[in-house]
Amino acid sequence: MSVLVCSQCKRRFSFTNTQEHPHFPFCSRTCRLIDLGEWLNESYTVAGAPLPDGGDEDWARFEEQMGD
Ligand SMILES: [Zn+2]
Repeated sequence: MSVLVCSQCKRRFSFTNTQEHPHFPFCSRTCRLIDLGEWLNESYTVAGAPLPDGGDEDWARFEEQMGD
């Protein structure tokens, strides 16, 4: 196990392996999606799907749209 710093929110988290921590290198699903959203904004500005700014339900819907 090692302590890593989330590349999105800079929070520290412990990492053992990718099976126990599927969101690596991020601390959470939210941080992974935020990073994905930023990447999408930079790469596919034409698509222009707005990032959800609400709670878990919005994020769940967003994740469905991402096909993940
Ligand atoms: Zn994070």
